[in-house]
Amino acid sequence: MKIGVPQGLLYSKYHIFAKAFFEELGAEIIISPDTNKRILDEGVHSCVDEACLPMKVFHGHVSWLKDKCDAILIPRFIGIAEKQYICPMFCGLIEMVSNNITGLPVLIDAPIYSLKNDKLSEWAQKAGGTVTRDKSRVEAAFSEAMRMYRSAAAGYNESEYPLKIALIGHVYNIYDRFINMDIKNKLNRMGFGIVTFDTIDRQCIDAEIDKLFKKPFWSFAREYYGAAVNISKTGKADGIIYLSSFSCGVDSVVIELIQSEIGDFPFMVLKLDEHTGEAGTDTRIEAFADMLKRRCRLGNHLS
Ligand code: SF4
Repeated sequence: MKIGVPQGLLYSKYHIFAKAFFEELGAEIIISPDTNKRILDEGVHSCVDEACLPMKVFHGHVSWLKDKCDAILIPRFIGIAEKQYICPMFCGLIEMVSNNITGLPVLIDAPIYSLKNDKLSEWAQKAGGTVTRDKSRVEAAFSEAMRMYRSAAAGYNESEYPLKIALIGHVYNIYDRFINMDIKNKLNRMGFGIVTFDTIDRQCIDAEIDKLFKKPFWSFAREYYGAAVNISKTGKADGIIYLSSFSCGVDSVVIELIQSEIGDFPFMVLKLDEHTGEAGTDTRIEAFADMLKRRCRLGNHLS
């Protein structure tokens, strides 16, 4: 059986697990290619105009896969932690995709309510049922996939550079080099190392969230806020670039929260959508980088 895995949205978080899980069950995995202009154009064409760029890109990846596999994995994320919520676009993703794209194969769309082991094990039994009815085989594949997932290191923390910039925002903006116009390599070429929010300890993030009178109920917002504030206080980076999706409700709240807490710590928001021009983005990145270098020369370098 061939199972397609779209390289969009939370792919960077779950691909190691998904590949190991379905391969252990004997399926062949087909991963859509890195996002490119054709995938973006196909996504923009098939998705509704009002959707954010990552949703459109995801549609493009599904379109690329639909004739090449027997089933496509589209996990229905309802939540990733108890008493917290995820963007509603994820809950309705299956409906969006199946209404917008015709001729789809079977969709592996079992819901995920939490990333706790017992909940993920329930998901594995439902999703694995697409490949085999042997529950003990699914359980063994699940254990192996979790082992591989837990042993994989997340994120960038490049210590070999004299100055560092933290990238905060959705993983699908940070790790998709087409969406973010390869910002990591641009900054590296300018002499900056990258720190991503997912390298910040969970306890450090929770410590910042605990200080808030009203805690954000979106899981993503908590992570981004906690990581950004921790970075600004500890000097783990010299500045922060927030990669934001145009029209994203989560981003609009969390950016305000971060700015109200970090004071004059260097912070720039880059809004991304399918119309974002690379030349304008480069100019803003260069201006931000120059400002950080000047601050460093003037003695405001925090590390
Ligand atoms: S959180 Fe924002 S960027 Fe992500 S899917 Fe929802 S609206 Fe789009």
